[in-house]
Amino acid sequence: MNKTIEILKRKEPFFWLNPYYTPFKDVIINAHKEQIEDATERLERFRSFIKIAFEETVSSDGLIESEIITINSFRDFMNDSYGRLNSSNVFLKDDAHLPISGSIKARGGIYAVLKFAEELAFDNGLIDSSLDYSQFASKRFFDFFSKYKLIVGSTGNLGLSIGIIGRKLGFRVEVHMSSDAKMWKKEKLRDIGAKVIEYNSDYSEAIKRGRELSKKDKYSHFIDDENSLDLFLGYSVAATRTKKQLDSMGIIPTIDKPLYVYLPCGVGGGPGGVAYGLKMIYGDVIKPIFAEPVNSPCMLLGISSGLHDKICVQDIGLTNRTQADGLAVGRASGFVGKTIENILFASYTVDDKTLFRLLNIMFFKENIYLEPSALAGSIGPWFAKNHYKFEDDAYHLIWATGGGMVPNHEREHHKDEGITGEKIRVRFIDSLNDKLVKIVMVVSTYKGKLVFCKHRVRKTYEIPAGHKELGEKPIEAARRELVEETSAIDYHIEPVCYYSVTDEYAENFGKIFVADITKISGNLEYEIEEIIFSNTVPDNTTYPYVVNKIIDEVKKRGFLNIK
Ligand SMILES: *Cc1c(COP(=O)(O)O)cnc(C)c1O
Repeated sequence: MNKTIEILKRKEPFFWLNPYYTPFKDVIINAHKEQIEDATERLERFRSFIKIAFEETVSSDGLIESEIITINSFRDFMNDSYGRLNSSNVFLKDDAHLPISGSIKARGGIYAVLKFAEELAFDNGLIDSSLDYSQFASKRFFDFFSKYKLIVGSTGNLGLSIGIIGRKLGFRVEVHMSSDAKMWKKEKLRDIGAKVIEYNSDYSEAIKRGRELSKKDKYSHFIDDENSLDLFLGYSVAATRTKKQLDSMGIIPTIDKPLYVYLPCGVGGGPGGVAYGLKMIYGDVIKPIFAEPVNSPCMLLGISSGLHDKICVQDIGLTNRTQADGLAVGRASGFVGKTIENILFASYTVDDKTLFRLLNIMFFKENIYLEPSALAGSIGPWFAKNHYKFEDDAYHLIWATGGGMVPNHEREHHKDEGITGEKIRVRFIDSLNDKLVKIVMVVSTYKGKLVFCKHRVRKTYEIPAGHKELGEKPIEAARRELVEETSAIDYHIEPVCYYSVTDEYAENFGKIFVADITKISGNLEYEIEEIIFSNTVPDNTTYPYVVNKIIDEVKKRGFLNIK
């Protein structure tokens, strides 16, 4: 058995440089520039329809495109945690906020449906090329398309994009969903009138069933995520537009300063199409790097073994189980694998826990929510740095592939997963330079009971605490936080000790105080919704592990007398 497979079996994050990577002039071309241009023009023709059908695209005049944004706070945090990159040029391609379906599938999925609709309309004499495509929003077209059915197998996001565009045009839509698919995605699809068929097995099985059923019905069209050139071309259109955006930002990659593009990979169509399109335009100055979950590295496995779709992750003992539902694919597309095996620069795997931590870092540093799958690319530059020597300077483009449609309750749940990682360690320190203190924590009592407060934006309780502001001494910060968060008027406060919390990224220091409050005003500042008094630590605190450790330590040191 080959060495790469041996390593993949360990289910640990792994960086793989593709030995089949080839100078672009020697790459055998499977999809031609003209085909990508044809796809680009098709999407242009459909803009007048899209603008009418989806209000959110009025401002972009029917163009479905995302922004490239700087993420300097995220970058700086990652530099501090993983070691500094040579380059400060780190950008995010924000496909999580693509209009219509909030993921990269708004490229391929929507394109594939529009292409099928256009063919039907042509073949049945509904349009000629001179006609304004806003007609596709008419009742006449809707009634015509309702004779036809779209069938698709999906882990979620592809189904969502096909369902939304398909239903809008009038098609009946049937989505075969793998066991990973999230409940809210199924609900959303049912809401818009799509039929959802659920499987207990993974994505490959859902696709297979969908494909079989479609064959039996001449009015049905199967969108084949494993083999569709249309999907691939739809994704590749991203390249032309990305080039325009990069040009306008003054980003012109060269051989000495290439552009690394980090793409989360499931079956391969999305990242493959984008990477292929970029290569066609830019050639050797683009270095595509794919990211997959440790339990679902189907593309890495397919390309490194040369077996493509003749091997799946289960064959080497992996489960294909991951919270990154968009990437939960056990068998890669053979067509994509063969098309990109010489243009893929490198590939790596990432574990779920890291995805959730990245989700938190991205959210708290940039206020950008991404779904777990979409974070896979975001560790790329720092992971690669440890295994490969970058040029003195380079551009890094992290492709964020989804999350814009995830409902709020699901987002909160994801953020919690990131915070409650088991790797957190708390330690107590007797003396420390106050300059290192970032946070002050005021364990407070009122009439012999512990005081906890609840922030308006959170569902959980906390010890009164906060960040030390610039120029403040810890005791000053502690008094300020105590008054702001509990409305204390009369109190006695004193220091207990220092503490630190270490996670995978850094050790952060704080100082603990105790305060015995004798009088409160009850006028809480706006951010605090409620304070409670309790003999014990409530079950639902924001950081249960840390809070319990701290209260125990304060007791142990003889500072607490709770009734
Ligand atoms: C589908 C998807 C991908 C990967 O695309 P594939 O075509 O399956 O390789 C990445 N991220 C998200 C959020 C997705 O939904």
